[in-house]
Amino acid sequence: MGTIYAIANQKGGVGKTTTAVNVAACIAAAGYETLVVDVDPQGNATVGLGVAREGVGVYDVLGGDVSAREAVRATDIERLSILVSTPDLAGATMELPRLPGSERRLREALEPLREDYAFILLDCPPSLGPLTVNALVAAERVIVPVQTEYFALEGLAGLLDTLSLIQRDLNPRLTVAGMLLTMHDARTKLAQDVEREVRAHFPALVFDTVIPRNVRLGEAPSYGIPVIHHDPHCSGAEAYFELAKEVAARG
Ligand code: ADP
Ligand code: MG
Repeated sequence: MGTIYAIANQKGGVGKTTTAVNVAACIAAAGYETLVVDVDPQGNATVGLGVAREGVGVYDVLGGDVSAREAVRATDIERLSILVSTPDLAGATMELPRLPGSERRLREALEPLREDYAFILLDCPPSLGPLTVNALVAAERVIVPVQTEYFALEGLAGLLDTLSLIQRDLNPRLTVAGMLLTMHDARTKLAQDVEREVRAHFPALVFDTVIPRNVRLGEAPSYGIPVIHHDPHCSGAEAYFELAKEVAARG
């Protein structure tokens, strides 16, 4: 049975999508059937994996019009599939709360797919709205990317409170896989200070692997490929390989 990971943080631009796409690519490269579910109406994971934002996707699956297995699409990468975000997913934020069992719709839709994939990664939008709640109810583990910058800790306490509430009321199996320091610039004292502070604040919760700020990571999405296929030897690719190993080991 596959494990479902949500990549979540209500802040935008912290590295959620980069982490979802690149961890998924590393896991697929290691030989496991892997699925990315693009739960963000912005569709960056879909585009970052070179897939068109059309046809059936998460929106249709949440609405119950099509099964998740029917909606899954292959990518150009071996063993890596995707459930895409189409533009109509933006409307789901309004429509979802009116549907029966609104918080559990993604969980129920994905359940049969756990037989098909070893890892399922859910890329969440930058909010704690209905789509993120659906992802957190579907997931067993959460990866929380944290940008290594001055306000890194801000918002994290609120996110952890939300996770506890979901765990208590909706999804007792949910645990934090880890917090991930991203966009780390080892040359700056600020990055070192922030890393120390986050590790001190959340001992045992922060992944050993730190994702460096790396130009290749930023440019890979414009080619519609994960960084390990864009430049397998860059620092970003190496870091995501290490992280994938750590995620698998912790799981
Ligand atoms: P989120 O999904 O949390 O909004 P993204 O993963 O889309 O964040 O990252 C925000 C922006 O920063 C994107 O343009 C992405 O390509 C870039 N980016 C993410 N991680 C890195 C990194 N480690 N080094 C350089 N650029 C990065
Ligand atoms: Mg994103």
